[in-house]
Amino acid sequence: MYFDFSRYAIAAGAMFGFLLIFRLWAENRRIQTRRATRHDYAREILSSLRTVFFFGVTTLATLALSRVGVIKFEISEFPLWLALVQAAAIILAHDAWFYWTHRAMHSKLLFRPVHLHHHKSRTPTPFTAYSFTWIEAIIEAAFMPLFLLVTSLMGFAFTGLALLLFIWIQISRNVMQHAGVEIHPAGWVDSKWTDWISTTTHHDLHHSGGNHNFGFYFTWWDRWMGTEHPQYKERFRAVAKPLIQRRTKRENPASAA
Ligand SMILES: [Zn+2]
Ligand SMILES: [Zn+2]
Repeated sequence: MYFDFSRYAIAAGAMFGFLLIFRLWAENRRIQTRRATRHDYAREILSSLRTVFFFGVTTLATLALSRVGVIKFEISEFPLWLALVQAAAIILAHDAWFYWTHRAMHSKLLFRPVHLHHHKSRTPTPFTAYSFTWIEAIIEAAFMPLFLLVTSLMGFAFTGLALLLFIWIQISRNVMQHAGVEIHPAGWVDSKWTDWISTTTHHDLHHSGGNHNFGFYFTWWDRWMGTEHPQYKERFRAVAKPLIQRRTKRENPASAA
């Protein structure tokens, strides 16, 4: 429980602190003109504590299942590359889980009771990361034990390091997606080496609009399913221009015309 709380608090707190320290840079890259209110922050932090509780229960359940041998952990010696490959495999599976459960939560039946709460944050902040209803918290938390159960039945055993890497990448990406400020470098969406990894603008457009960009780590599910926001790249380029270029434009408005 403490572990689940601390990774939320550390990741969200670190991003909040980072944006505060570099606020001049952050103000130039703010995605929306609207600001999150104190009320927004309070709701997000309070409901995130509820999510932490469900993540904690799931962690304990996973450990209990591994004790009785239903879930298998490989804790003996292993090469580093194995942990890295395993972490990548978990992330790929979680990306698909997130996309499809997220789309299901946007259905008429589930949106109001399950997912509307997360969308009360029209202007996301780092603390939006775990702002879920209890049902959504369970859906998010269920991935790890279900994944381990299925892969154990298939005969795979995952290393503890792979799980730890996944958990930290997951919360870091979650907080980055909700930063409210574009933190990915200019040109990200125009390079084939980075365009497949989603950005803050990608998920921010989901919060300000709601009908596009259901993906989490990667852009490919939205592209395959035709759900990417039609102005995603334009909006990213508008907000993620290099600081020097933006300042030059402001100082010489004629040159920007
Ligand atoms: Zn949504
Ligand atoms: Zn969100």
